[in-house]
Amino acid sequence: MTKTRNDFSARTKLDLALRASYVCSSCKLSTVGPSDEAPDAVTMIGVAAHICSAAPGPGARRYDPTMTPEERSHIDNGIWLCASCGVLIDRDEKRFTADHLRRMKREHEGSRRIEGSGSDAEGDLISIGRDIVAVGSIVHSGPDGTRVRLSHFVSGSGRDLWSLNRDFGTWLPERRYVLLNELGFGGLLADPPIVERVGQAYEVQFRLQDQVPRRDAAASLSTMSREDGRLLHGLEAYIQHFETVLGMALGTWFADLGQGSDLSDLYWRYRGSPWFGRLAMMEMIRLSCIPRFKEGRDGPSTPFLAVNRIDRVEVPSFDLTNQKLAIEVRFDLEGLGQWDHVLSVFVSTPEQLARGRENARFHNKKLRTIEAENRKV
Ligand SMILES: [Zn+2]
Repeated sequence: MTKTRNDFSARTKLDLALRASYVCSSCKLSTVGPSDEAPDAVTMIGVAAHICSAAPGPGARRYDPTMTPEERSHIDNGIWLCASCGVLIDRDEKRFTADHLRRMKREHEGSRRIEGSGSDAEGDLISIGRDIVAVGSIVHSGPDGTRVRLSHFVSGSGRDLWSLNRDFGTWLPERRYVLLNELGFGGLLADPPIVERVGQAYEVQFRLQDQVPRRDAAASLSTMSREDGRLLHGLEAYIQHFETVLGMALGTWFADLGQGSDLSDLYWRYRGSPWFGRLAMMEMIRLSCIPRFKEGRDGPSTPFLAVNRIDRVEVPSFDLTNQKLAIEVRFDLEGLGQWDHVLSVFVSTPEQLARGRENARFHNKKLRTIEAENRKV
């Protein structure tokens, strides 16, 4: 049998759900909710529906024979709906034309402002390691640790949560962390988190390790300007440093493939969506609170070096100027306190990302071979 259905990938389905804030683009009902029936305590009644049908056939709606398989399974051909609206649009092709659905999608995504009222996404983002990201809130914080309640998953599932304890020992040390957008803060876990089912939600109790010391932002850094070669001191040097860290995509630095930021990837995935700002904030929390695992000459440090907390991240426009994105930030800097600035961050194109990662892997492999040979001598 030849493969004729051009279905969406899991990634595309998740992106559609996120961009719609898990709300049906047609009837505006929430497509997630706690449930006792589902094993992961969250019922998902949403569907990533095709605007133009994935395959031809008697039941196919809005099938466009001129589209390529790639176009049919592309995010542009998807719309997030609840299960009943998903059925409805396939029953009534006259009313739900492709143009009508595209307009509906555009208007819905544009209207999902998370900060505004009426949002079904209660709370803020909480990340446990790289793979579990959920919307939730802090319910307790004290000397015995912090307790959070998760209302729904952005990535990962209830199953991943339950296996946290069992798998904790197998996680890479640099992945054993928690990031809390509500506090602009995060850290490495001191021990395996405790997961409990409370009513219809999940609660996770954890303790964080002591923070690694931050550098004094008022004093200690000087570096050469990339623009004109002059020597930058103090804050000026830090601004360039923050922009460099954010602009270097994860996996593109051959000497350490674990370094860099997700910002460019997030940009292409969530451009135009209010989720971009929240996910960018989460990434900045990681860069400010989770230490690098290759210790520098001056002991352990975080990639952002001097940032204690991320208080605000906002993206006024998704337009790029010379491939750079303006991001308004408010950081709490060691030695200086609250600091507002507009960072100008380089965004790699998807092609640059792919090429950069391929190059980095190639040179990293060569580097390892040389290192191994040197050890033999
Ligand atoms: Zn609906």
